[in-house]
Amino acid sequence: MEPADSMKVIPIPQLSDNYAYLIIDTATDKAGIVDCAEPAPILAVVDSEGVELTSILPTHHHFDHVGGNDEMLKARPGLTVYGFDDRVPGITDRVDEGSLVSVGELKARVMSIPAHTTGHIAYYFENEAAVFTGDTLFAGGCGRLFEGDAAMMIKSLGKLRDLPNETQVYFGHEYTENNLRFASTLEPNNQSLTEKRAWAAGQIQDGKFTTPTTIASEKETNPFFRWESEELRNTLSAQFSDLPMDDVSVFAKTRALKDSF
Ligand SMILES: [Zn+2]
Repeated sequence: MEPADSMKVIPIPQLSDNYAYLIIDTATDKAGIVDCAEPAPILAVVDSEGVELTSILPTHHHFDHVGGNDEMLKARPGLTVYGFDDRVPGITDRVDEGSLVSVGELKARVMSIPAHTTGHIAYYFENEAAVFTGDTLFAGGCGRLFEGDAAMMIKSLGKLRDLPNETQVYFGHEYTENNLRFASTLEPNNQSLTEKRAWAAGQIQDGKFTTPTTIASEKETNPFFRWESEELRNTLSAQFSDLPMDDVSVFAKTRALKDSF
């Protein structure tokens, strides 16, 4: 399923490997930006698209996602800045799990998905089948556990994994090639993973993005959606014979291996 015509999403590279996303409501030409580290390239796209920026949708408080909020508010006073975590600069509208936020006439539901940070949220546009996952879910990977543990992250990723398969996933960093290289060490015989790795390498070689992915693709290729995979578990138990094989232990070991990959 392609994203609905009512919404256009433009990835905007930020800093070294971050993505901000301009969400345009095509019915009203109003736009929102998911995360904002560097306002200048964002405003260049806003102007070239001829849309009105009305809101900032921050995913979490890290500097590479919200470090441009204050400068953006100076450039465009009156923006709505949604926020769940007090550490996000410039919040005008406080949100919570289940809150609805607007970009023009488009509506997104806030999902609380802690573990990378305690205040991390996603924005789920159910009608347009799109979710913005910041640093919780990447293509082929997940965020580091800075403020939560493996049990918390499994729960957060589980909420995302339960979204419809066709949901487009817009993630916070271009880490896909490295993520899939790591994934292959755990599931060398996963054919979907091998194919996606080749595709991602081609995209990067051609100077293209690997975003968005889909929930379906992540279920097939992402080790952090695949703690139940038999091949992944066999790889781990062959290397770590005393590893308990409950979901949280499998996930925690996978995360620990990625941390030092
Ligand atoms: Zn982060």
